[in-house]
Amino acid sequence: MQKKVLIGIAWTYANSDIHLGHVSAYIPGDVLARYHRATGDDVLMVSGTDCHGTPTTERAIREGKTPTEIVNHYHEQYVEVFRKLGMSYDYYTMTTTPYHAEKVQQMVRTLHEHGYIYPKTEPASFCPKCNKFVYDREVEVVCPKCGSVSKGDQCGNCDYVFLPQDLLKAKCRICGSETEIRDNTNLYFALSKFDKPLREHFNKSKGYWRKNTVNETEKFLDEGLQDRAVTRDLNWGVKVPFEGYDDKRIYVWIEALWGYVSATQAYCDEHGLDWRDWWFKSSEHENLVYMCHGKDNIVFHTIIFPALLMATDSRFLMPEHCVSSEFLNIDGEKISKSKGNGWPMLDMLAKFDADSLRYFCIANGPEKRDSNFTFADYHAVHNGEIVNKFGNFVNRTLKFKGLEGYLPNGKMDESIRAEIEHTYKSVGESIEGANFKDALNKVMELVDLGNKYYDTQEPWKLFKEDEKKFNDVMYTCVQIIANLGNLMDPFMPFSAKKIRDFLGLDKAKWEYVNVDCDRDFGTIEPLFTRLTEKDVM
Ligand SMILES: [Zn+2]
Ligand SMILES: [Zn+2]
Repeated sequence: MQKKVLIGIAWTYANSDIHLGHVSAYIPGDVLARYHRATGDDVLMVSGTDCHGTPTTERAIREGKTPTEIVNHYHEQYVEVFRKLGMSYDYYTMTTTPYHAEKVQQMVRTLHEHGYIYPKTEPASFCPKCNKFVYDREVEVVCPKCGSVSKGDQCGNCDYVFLPQDLLKAKCRICGSETEIRDNTNLYFALSKFDKPLREHFNKSKGYWRKNTVNETEKFLDEGLQDRAVTRDLNWGVKVPFEGYDDKRIYVWIEALWGYVSATQAYCDEHGLDWRDWWFKSSEHENLVYMCHGKDNIVFHTIIFPALLMATDSRFLMPEHCVSSEFLNIDGEKISKSKGNGWPMLDMLAKFDADSLRYFCIANGPEKRDSNFTFADYHAVHNGEIVNKFGNFVNRTLKFKGLEGYLPNGKMDESIRAEIEHTYKSVGESIEGANFKDALNKVMELVDLGNKYYDTQEPWKLFKEDEKKFNDVMYTCVQIIANLGNLMDPFMPFSAKKIRDFLGLDKAKWEYVNVDCDRDFGTIEPLFTRLTEKDVM
């Protein structure tokens, strides 16, 4: 039965260049989308640029720009990176659209009607000179743990996360004045009311999750769910749809999460589809909802977003399949802005092959534990696995010397055919289980089998000695390549497409394909170029 498959990939925060660490958490979503499309499922892969919040306004002030200029700059960069990386988004948007604002306001009004949003007055830091309430990142405090002066969200020295009471005596980072305490009223979401259904969701879904996802979620539940502020004193963000909150905006966590729903709705509106087909339980079709993100975002996707869905409409499907990636380090160090080691993705894509970067991120990426990127490792993987094995098998078959692009028909080796059919099944199971590294390894095993078959059959000898046998061997090798054009599509979409173009095959399908060899193959370009030492310096 055809499934409706929704794939939500984490929204990139529009505040800095996108780097390899980000995309290594997003690529799994694209693998899932491409695989499910190939099996015939109705896939919707959505995401967008997360534009609101204080880091953006701070950056705008620092650079003498408007927040809109900042977010548009990064949004354009992200769109270009995703295009070059072959991320097959059905819809990629941003949180500054009027459409998104309207859907978020509608959701907040619904939460209010359902009794899950309430006002709460608390003492807060107020800057008399700026004449506004100032929040964690906007103030400077003396860390009660280590005594160093730090931004008010987290101590830059000892990583202590400040509590609200730590911020009561602070300095405004915008104007330098001492802040004072005033009563402030904000709206809160009653997350604490969802302990029971969230535990049920946890117990039902944890079998699909990675160990770290299970542990983090359980820890968060066991610490006790706290209600969360829905509004914040800001002038950059989605307006609050209630009277008396004109100087506040919807807090970024809640509206960015709702982007998964609003992006689906926007796409469906534009294409005459019903968004509920992807988000609501149905008796007519099977549904799957995947969420792909980095480990710093786990509880937002396993607890907070599910609670918002439950609170809004009981018909919502829960995002059961959370694919949380660990971190990718560079040269053994965590990627950080201050270290400047996060190699902007656009620079990487200008220098290296997109498929080869995808391959590295999947085969050596942070699937179940933190992983490390070094240029030496990347060089070895690119030349050793991608060029020497995959590229070479395709090249030496389709460009066999003496045939000049014309390959004769023959008979398929039945044991190899069986192996290919088994590979589809087994790779599919690995992808569905979010074991992407295993899945890619299995495709590479088929490449290895192809190379081994080629070497043992010695077609260069058969060419002169046994025409019939030669035809059978080459025919079999071409069928392996044709099927690699399908099997590689989730992982290396550009080379998979090249193969299908060489062989006159259309879209990738998750089933055995057979191509007729008795024709001219035209010009066959090598799939990859070898990297030299100089390329990775
Ligand atoms: Zn400290
Ligand atoms: Zn101030």
